[in-house]
Amino acid sequence: MTATLNITPFEEWLPGSAQPMIIAGPCSAETEEQVMETAFGIASIPQVKIFRAGIWKPRTRPGAFEGVGTKGLQWLQKVKEQTGLLVTVEVANPRHVQEALDHGIDILWIGARTVVNPFAVQEIAEAIGDRDVPVLIKNPLNPDLTTWMGAIERLNRVGLKKLVAVHRGFSFFNRTPYRNAPMWEIPIELKRLHPNLPIVVDPSHICGNRELIPATIQKALDLEMNGVMIETHISPSKALTDKNQQVTPAHLEEILSRLILRRETGSSELSYKLEELRSEIDKLDEELIDILARRMKVVEEIGIYKKVNKVTILQLKRWNQLKQDRIEAGIKMGLSREFILKLLESVHEEGIRRQIEVMNRDEP
Ligand code: PEP
Ligand code: MN
Repeated sequence: MTATLNITPFEEWLPGSAQPMIIAGPCSAETEEQVMETAFGIASIPQVKIFRAGIWKPRTRPGAFEGVGTKGLQWLQKVKEQTGLLVTVEVANPRHVQEALDHGIDILWIGARTVVNPFAVQEIAEAIGDRDVPVLIKNPLNPDLTTWMGAIERLNRVGLKKLVAVHRGFSFFNRTPYRNAPMWEIPIELKRLHPNLPIVVDPSHICGNRELIPATIQKALDLEMNGVMIETHISPSKALTDKNQQVTPAHLEEILSRLILRRETGSSELSYKLEELRSEIDKLDEELIDILARRMKVVEEIGIYKKVNKVTILQLKRWNQLKQDRIEAGIKMGLSREFILKLLESVHEEGIRRQIEVMNRDEP
């Protein structure tokens, strides 16, 4: 069952805003100069209304730069006063909430590592309580829509209505070109269930590198997502965290100027459905390729074994038995005999080729 959400449209609380909502700023606040220079660069881009910076950084391993802590809040206050941008920071516990609100932070965000934990989200929700502050909720690290929605519902239940979901991609066991697999079907399903909940896409954490960012933003807008949160640093190569995925303010301006803002097509149901199915196919193909590559590795190992033990490559009895077994299994799964045979023969041929290569190598 899906609880309905009571959401205030962001156009009502974000001054001067038109879709899409653009949030930009460094992964981490590092020094006052870095924060201010980045903020002035960003403030000259009219589409950007919100400045982001992490001051308490959740790191995968201890000992890495864990953020400048509370003193960064004063830098953000200065950004607010001197640029007019609204400011947002990540909060992971009630103390962060208290300190951020005491320093006039306009918008709070809850990170992917916190959203996975309903205890933590509940504590944060209660700490914010009736202070009517907007909250951005990232998706959890794992591809789990229920946990993401659960976090949003917890905040909504304490009376917070200025809520925005942030899609930052998901940990996925297969290697993909992305740092966090976008799995567009998940935010699409969230939009279908809660059409009134704005969704902002974080291409920086999805992509993990600058090159993929423009296409990912365009895709987000084509899917009628409501905005972007993009990591922006005055000097990305010197960034203390996430250096490969940050862009300069000038680059951000260029990326934004090249975006094509399409009008709503009116056929979004159809395009969502198609996208959902395509995303499913992409994932399955990745798995298929991964499995084929793993199979070939095993075939090579067998080749080495055959070479060392002076056994012939082609073992006809085994091959005939394998064919028969696989065809039977495939037919049970609704695949045609011709298709499986073609597939097996092609895989087998490549396996033989690999084993011949192994035989011809100087070393086993
Ligand atoms: C961030 O935005 O810098 C961050 C830590 O993101 P996430 O929680 O999505 O990993
Ligand atoms: Mn980051």
